[in-house]
Amino acid sequence: MGLHILVINSGSSSIKFSLIEVNTQKTIISGLAEKLGLEKAILHTKYNGETQTIDLEKNNHETAMQAILKTLGEKGLGKEITAVGHRVVHGGEYFSSSTIITPEVLKAIEKCVPYAPLHNPANLIGITGALQAVPELPQVAVFDTAFHQSLPQHAYLYAVPMEWYKEHGVRRYGFHGISYRFVMQEAAKSLQIPLENSAFVCAHLGNGASITAILNGKSVDTSMGFTPLEGLVMGTRSGDLDPALIGYLSDVLKKDAHEIVDMLNKKSGLLGLSGLSNDMRELEAASAKGDEHAKMAIEIFVFRLAKYIAAMSVSLPRVDALIFTGGIGENSASLRKKVLERLAVLGYFVDEAANNETTRGKSGLISNQQSKKAIVINTNEELMIAMDTAALVKS
Ligand code: ADP
Repeated sequence: MGLHILVINSGSSSIKFSLIEVNTQKTIISGLAEKLGLEKAILHTKYNGETQTIDLEKNNHETAMQAILKTLGEKGLGKEITAVGHRVVHGGEYFSSSTIITPEVLKAIEKCVPYAPLHNPANLIGITGALQAVPELPQVAVFDTAFHQSLPQHAYLYAVPMEWYKEHGVRRYGFHGISYRFVMQEAAKSLQIPLENSAFVCAHLGNGASITAILNGKSVDTSMGFTPLEGLVMGTRSGDLDPALIGYLSDVLKKDAHEIVDMLNKKSGLLGLSGLSNDMRELEAASAKGDEHAKMAIEIFVFRLAKYIAAMSVSLPRVDALIFTGGIGENSASLRKKVLERLAVLGYFVDEAANNETTRGKSGLISNQQSKKAIVINTNEELMIAMDTAALVKS
């Protein structure tokens, strides 16, 4: 019997889970407990092609974890679990790789709560819930930030007083590291180049979006910063802007700095610009029907992304390939085309047919013969977490 890893991604109002058979890379069962903390929490489960939804008795994370494990037990899958792998958003400077969870590890994750006040507490609840429910199983933490601990100082320090870094941990941490690690390995395989001698610019474009320069399998620069707010235009996040705006907006809107930052996180980006949606699919549909705001939001997203691809290229001695991943990167041929058109100056040219065909789970080159390579790779963060967990448990 192969290793079966239960992957848990516990967020502020939801817990996603999947049970993965690592050798075959198959997902046996998966699901989502959502609306936790809200009125009616529910648990959706997908097993053998069927979806089931049940109401949860209480709307907290503990009840959801118990319900998930009960569901696995009822289907006879509980005994098959070898270990539990948890996604943890922030590992600060404590963790540069995945790790078996011990009391010391839990303390270090707690110390990172001020850096990720919404995410890390939810991740911790997922971990403690699992530790209570299945104390006999090894548990592993896999961090979003860990991959970027290889950033050189010139890339992670902000040009602010050094005490802020030394005393308050103010620096670029970077996120989406689990996805980047998976995607770079797949890209190296697909392009048949050794990962230890590779140079990629990789754009992870989902609801959150970021871009990373990866040299020989290590992150050397990335667009998200101290928090996931920095960098690209995202679904509801502004990405880069003049930090002086926070003082100005605080005065004119009569709101404190935290409220402004909240609006930059939740009411900005594609949603703020379009006034319509944070969802790229909806914006593309609206734009096709002539909605000027949707069109403009997409153009701004594309412009910022192209600018960042150029900037990230400077962090590398050469670029072997530009990689697109995440819901938008994997599916929106029209957005990728627009980005590559802006990048003609860097030698990228789209292969229209290949680009149009590469959607919905397909991966492959989308650049033409004359172009530098641009490739679409499907990410799989759950599988990456399962593989890390299996590797640590085996060793
Ligand atoms: P998350 O960051 O929440 O994991 P995803 O990686 O699933 O999100 O990406 C979600 C984004 O991908 C949404 O903006 C969605 O509209 C977009 N997307 C998914 N499919 C398509 C598509 N066919 N065309 C354009 N955008 C798409």
